[in-house]
Amino acid sequence: MSEYPKSPLMGQMMSQPLLISSIIQHADRYFGSNEIVSRRVEGDIHRYTYRDCHKRARQMANALDALGVRIGDRVATLAWNGYRHLELYYAISGSGAVMHTINPRLHPEQIAYIVNHAEDQFLFFDMSFLPLVEAFAAHCKTTKGFIMMCDRDRMPAETRIPNLMCYEDLIAKSSDDYAWPLFDENCASSLCYTSGTTGNPKGALYSHRSTVLHSYASAMPDALNVSARDSVLPVVPMFHVNAWGLPYSVPLTGAKMVFPGPALDGKSLHELFEQEQVTFSAGVPTVWLGLLTYVGQNNLKFSSFKRTVIGGSACPPAMMKTFRNQYVIDVVHAWGMTEMSPLGTACTLQSHHMSLSDDAQQSILEKQGHAIFGVDMKIVDDMGEELPWDGKTYGNLLVKGPWIVSGYFKNEGGDVLQDGWFPTGDVATISPDGYMQITDRSKDVIKSGGEWIGSIDLENIAMGHPAVQQAACIGVFHPKWDERPLLVVVKKPGAEVSREELITFYEGKIAKWWTPDDVTFVEALPIGATGKILKNRIRDQFKEYKLPTA
Ligand code: AMP
Repeated sequence: MSEYPKSPLMGQMMSQPLLISSIIQHADRYFGSNEIVSRRVEGDIHRYTYRDCHKRARQMANALDALGVRIGDRVATLAWNGYRHLELYYAISGSGAVMHTINPRLHPEQIAYIVNHAEDQFLFFDMSFLPLVEAFAAHCKTTKGFIMMCDRDRMPAETRIPNLMCYEDLIAKSSDDYAWPLFDENCASSLCYTSGTTGNPKGALYSHRSTVLHSYASAMPDALNVSARDSVLPVVPMFHVNAWGLPYSVPLTGAKMVFPGPALDGKSLHELFEQEQVTFSAGVPTVWLGLLTYVGQNNLKFSSFKRTVIGGSACPPAMMKTFRNQYVIDVVHAWGMTEMSPLGTACTLQSHHMSLSDDAQQSILEKQGHAIFGVDMKIVDDMGEELPWDGKTYGNLLVKGPWIVSGYFKNEGGDVLQDGWFPTGDVATISPDGYMQITDRSKDVIKSGGEWIGSIDLENIAMGHPAVQQAACIGVFHPKWDERPLLVVVKKPGAEVSREELITFYEGKIAKWWTPDDVTFVEALPIGATGKILKNRIRDQFKEYKLPTA
């Protein structure tokens, strides 16, 4: 694959491909008795070790072989975070096939579309998804069989699903005598479709090399900072960009793994955090909102939880402060995307920041952070000209690096790179010392009188008001300015606040012309399949909205 020149004197190091199977081999050999704990779809708690996981992954690899799965074939999963899903991460990719994780929150028609687009040969699913699989299985053109991830006694007596098999049967009849094959590290390892709020979803096709490099980099102290002394609970689903790589980086470091299964409500999460002495977790802001509300209402604390990574959408500063001030939990704000495996930046302080005031440190930590080694970034204007890193000028954010896509699966969308850089679709500033801050998704930017207003800032300020649970800011039509900001708010249960109070709340916090023209209150905001607020839905809902200033 290398298109670069060679030297007359090449290095003399072992040429060993970077393969995903090496991670589980390492975890077994050096951390074999460390635990993997899962809250199962069945409702109980399951415990075993990395050694057990590796053994069953080898059995499953033999089972896949017997089913006729070959190198490069796509095998899909529709499953929550759990030990069987982890076994498949290694069995499928480790044997050379391609692990295609599907988001079960998608509509059955969308699932059938991506199964057919990916040409999945087999599909594994958690038993709670039986009705969902029944709804689309007949439309899967290439899928030769479906495997329900459960014991024999949980299998349905009757089903419309063609060639339905039982996961534990496959394991039981397969030997664990399996040698992980060696192949080129650039072979495809896994496939993840983008959330695709517009148009059809597109596939990001990761390689063994990109995944192993991302695992190394993401575990570093100024990124996720995972070590063998941690107990890690990935709240972020294994069907959303491989749970930000934690199914690889956690075994790689030997940390204890704790899987929450489908129970992502505040009560279940808090119980598991305490029971398994979780030290580190990761997830999108909407999940943390549920946990913080539950913990707050019930006057609870965390006895072991020390650090969490929040990303996927902007972490409201108010949430960061609640974590830190009330529970002494550090929040690392991180940014990335499906196309980036996903990690691009993480926000941590450097020694020279230690003498700054708390407020100054906080305002750095609210940014999305600095690039982790392996990722490079720049901001450009609409003509592609690079913009200065002054912390004020904002532009289109472009990235490059070995775990960033060079194009989409099956070349969907054509040539996406701009001079070798991937356009993220985000708008950002970068400070002189390299801290990036997202002002908006380019399609969410509010265009007022030829200038841009970043909706994230406006939302963050609103979320700082004690009566506001959630806020989204959108541009709505204005006859003079094209668009003006409308703030859509969900109030905290039992709390009261008026439109005028919220508009006054912006005074002194932002340029006056950025202040929302109006505020409207709703019961709930539409949330998408990956836990993000769906701005396009809100825009549709308020398409005809008449601003008082119009
Ligand atoms: P996805 O591919 O579904 O993970 O979505 C990636 C997009 O989510 C990015 O391009 C950003 O628009 C958004 N995103 C991810 N992390 C953050 C963050 N920390 N702050 C703001 N937006 C974020």
